[in-house]
Order: sequence, then structure tokens, then C-alpha cells
Amino acid sequence: MTPFNTETSISPEESNYYGHYPYEIEDNYFSQENLSTKPGEYRQTTVAVDSFSPNAWGLYNMHGNVSEWVWDYYAGPQLLDRLLTEHPEVDFVQLQINYADWNDPNVSSRANYEVARKHGKSITVMEPVKGGKLANPPAAVKKLFQEYAPDMSPASWAIRFVASLDGIITVLSGMSSVEQMEDNLSYMKNFQPLNEEEQKIIRQAQKILGSPAEIPCTACHYCTDGCPKQIQIPDIFAAANLQIGNRQATQAKERYASISEGHRATDCIGCKQCERACPQHLKITDYLKQCSEIFGA
Ligand code: SF4
Ligand code: SF4
Repeated sequence: MTPFNTETSISPEESNYYGHYPYEIEDNYFSQENLSTKPGEYRQTTVAVDSFSPNAWGLYNMHGNVSEWVWDYYAGPQLLDRLLTEHPEVDFVQLQINYADWNDPNVSSRANYEVARKHGKSITVMEPVKGGKLANPPAAVKKLFQEYAPDMSPASWAIRFVASLDGIITVLSGMSSVEQMEDNLSYMKNFQPLNEEEQKIIRQAQKILGSPAEIPCTACHYCTDGCPKQIQIPDIFAAANLQIGNRQATQAKERYASISEGHRATDCIGCKQCERACPQHLKITDYLKQCSEIFGA
């Protein structure tokens, strides 16, 4: 089994990519398992769509042949400005943008957006629903949305907010069920940008979200792999947020209790490996101390 539609690793004769270095060539060489794929041509340009054989469903070019390149960008606006100045050849950038983090100094949604637009770049948006948090915002925000449009989901407000910005070419909505996808389609098919009244409501929601000191973790899990104590960081933060943001003390305690002993907030040894991995630049160790105080364990 390979990640490709061919039975073995794709060769440059089957796809257009950096052919000097086929997938897993070193592993294959040392294991002597697959010696059929060898380094080949690196064309450095795109080719006609039907240059290679299609896959079993008749689809061409499912691998390789990329003509645009993009940065998946997580740092701040100064560095982005420098990078885009030094690399004007970048076609578009992928940024974390959502209405809750619009003015957040760590995520810098707005600042990064403005830098990208200053350089004339289009933008693909990741985390528009903030790792699912804006699909279930605090009660005060839900009430605000429902009073204006009872049938519109909280996620739709979040996605329409980013899709209404100039220069957005794609919104990676990150939905995980058919129902959520149908909800997406209901307002993205004949997309209407947020009107003035709706923009005002978003600003009110931003104010509300700015007040509780919720931990802005998106549950991406980038921090957990390298943790020597296997601290369940996103689960701990989710439990704490139930208490901080939604004042659901019982549910928060239950959620925290479901985390295995030995992997809770108090078990952290403060090595800060997790903080280096966190794309949101969260002070994870400080938050874990806060969680220890909340849950007393
Ligand atoms: S600081 Fe704590 S949570 Fe972070 S990697 Fe180290 S032990 Fe794990
Ligand atoms: S890397 Fe940061 S945002 Fe992602 S789960 Fe860990 S703490 Fe949360």
C-alpha cells in the first residue's frame, strides 16, 4: 500500500514532481523492498493535464504538477512582511483568520491579513471556526446571533466573516460531518457577504469573547507529540474552558477527570517543548498552572 494510486512509489514518468528525490527512496534502498522507483527528471514546470495515466476513477494528475506555492503561515506580521518582500514569487498565503482572533496579539489575524493584502497576495484561510470553538461560542454570543437570525448557525457567522474579506480565495472550513457540510453549502452556494448590521453584530461578539480569559487553544495537537510526560494539553484546556468560558463547572470537572492520571496539568515538568511546537504561541506552561489551580490536581 502506498499513498499514491500507483502500486509503488510514483516515478517521475508517472507524475510531475521533484523527480530527483522520489518518495521514501532512502527507506526503500535500505530495506531493499522497492527498488523500481528511481530518481528521474525534475521538470521545474507544469505539464499538460493528461500527460500521465489517470487513476482508477479516470482522474488525471492527482499527484504533483503544482504551479502555485503557498506558505502555511503561523508567525507574526513583521516576519510575514519581510518574507513577502524577499519572496514576491509566493502566489498566496495561508493564514489563521477568525473573528475572535482578529485583534489577538498572538494570532495576529488582522495584522497578518493586512500585510498579505499590502503585498497584493490572495489568502487561503485556516481555522475560520477556531478549531470548532466558534461553532459553539459562549451563550452570550449565541444569543446575539440567534436574535438577529435564528436559523443561522454560529459556524456560519464565523465562516461568512472571513469569506467577506477582500482577497480570500479559499476558506478551509474544517467541518467534520455531513450536516456541517450541508450547513456550509447553504450559505456558501450563493454567498452573501456580511452586511453592515451583521458586521456590527460580529464586533459585539468580539467584545464579548475578549472578556473571559478563555484559553485560545485550537486543539490542533501539535504540542502533544514531543511532550515527555504525554500531558493531554488540549483536553486539559478544553476542560478548563468549559469552566472559564461557559461556567459549566460540573462538566468541566467530569471532562478533567476523564484524563488519565499522570497526564494532567500537575504532571507537567515545565520543559516547554510544547510551547515551541504551538502555532498559536500559547504560554502553555502558564495555562497548565492555571488549570492546576482550577482543578486542584
Ligand atoms: S512543558 Fe509540560 S506539557 Fe509542555 S512538553 Fe514539557 S512536560 Fe509536556
Ligand atoms: S499546539 Fe497549541 S493550539 Fe495546538 S493543541 Fe497544543 S496548545 Fe492547543
